[in-house]
Amino acid sequence: MHLRYSYRVYPTVGQRQLLARTFGCARVVYNDALALRKAAWKADRSRIPTGAPAKAVITDAKKTDARSWLGSVSVDALQSSIRDLDTAYRNFFDSLSGKRAGRPVGLPVFKSRKDNRQSLRFSRNGFRLRGNGKLNLARIGDVRVKWSRALPADPSSVTIVLDPSGRYFASFVVDIEPDHLAELDTEIGIDLGLTTYAVMSDGTVIDNPRFLRKAERKLKAAQRALSRRAKGSKNREKARRKVARAHAKVADTRMDWLHKQTTRLIRENQAIYLEDLNVRGLARTRPAKSVHDAGWSTFRRLLTEKAARYGRHVGIIGRYEPTSQVCSACGVLDGPKPLNIREWTCGACGACHDRDLNAARNILAAGRADRLNACGGPVGPGVAIPRRARPVETGTHRNAGRTGRKPRAAGATGIPVLQRGEDVTRR
Ligand SMILES: [Zn+2]
Repeated sequence: MHLRYSYRVYPTVGQRQLLARTFGCARVVYNDALALRKAAWKADRSRIPTGAPAKAVITDAKKTDARSWLGSVSVDALQSSIRDLDTAYRNFFDSLSGKRAGRPVGLPVFKSRKDNRQSLRFSRNGFRLRGNGKLNLARIGDVRVKWSRALPADPSSVTIVLDPSGRYFASFVVDIEPDHLAELDTEIGIDLGLTTYAVMSDGTVIDNPRFLRKAERKLKAAQRALSRRAKGSKNREKARRKVARAHAKVADTRMDWLHKQTTRLIRENQAIYLEDLNVRGLARTRPAKSVHDAGWSTFRRLLTEKAARYGRHVGIIGRYEPTSQVCSACGVLDGPKPLNIREWTCGACGACHDRDLNAARNILAAGRADRLNACGGPVGPGVAIPRRARPVETGTHRNAGRTGRKPRAAGATGIPVLQRGEDVTRR
């Protein structure tokens, strides 16, 4: 399996200038190749075969006055840039034909000098790892690397990234064998939320760290300072860096935290079940900032990646399972409950439920059933959850805040109803 390993690198001033030049050349080559493909398509609907533009935009272009400076940078980085364009096109066509899963991929777009994040890639021929721990890049030189952890295998490529806050990173691709952990018999269902980050079916709770909310005052101050600086001035650039650094700090802390949580979950459980939350849809609704801050999709991605690596199972159960409406003790569908109902008593069996814990238990049951189904085994006596039912609660589901559906009238059942526009995250 291919994994990425990223390290901070510290190029010297001279190396930064060389890198800046290479970023620029790689971008020009990319854009030239893209323009070539677009023109061919416009002229006679023809698709230039993969790899063909390389000669035109690198080898031949170098001989012209307008592009002679391409000769001053690593040809490997330029070729990689064109291969990246080929990949972008392939992803686009695969997405069109349905060969590629996930959300639709758009056509490649031109890169700009003003892009916040600059990157370039070196193939196996373009870099070398020195015995003294330095990273040798073609036409750049030996760059100092902070090896925060060991590389597990020989890398097949390296991408050099300059992030908006001015930091450089080297991201290596390594191909390693999965490293399966000893099998366990623990399984867990996780209910993700905003009040508490996660509630597990065994009753443990992970608090929501709210990194962005905590840093908000500082960020706002930096943002205000930036908006007061004159456009194009040196001080504006400094202020922009400051904002970017503050954002990077939040993102780093969040990532670090997510890594710790997911590693622990993977170590302790053989199977982990989650609900399929429509994060993109959710992020458009009111608590968007909180949703982004929670980083649910990263949480899920990290879990899935680590599960593949360590021989664990991550099951995602359907978006429309009414996990918070069913009693996890007897399986009776008790009906929708507004988000401010944190506890309820089952009308059928009298069990008293914490809303999130009950949902986590239902997620575990649904996940188990899916997994057994997939394995062809018998479906266990877990809780039967009606398939088609759609939850109507506002909150962590897709229809949250989108429909104009009126909340059920309060009073009829004695349940207070959440009004539209009320902040569901604050209580
Ligand atoms: Zn019950």
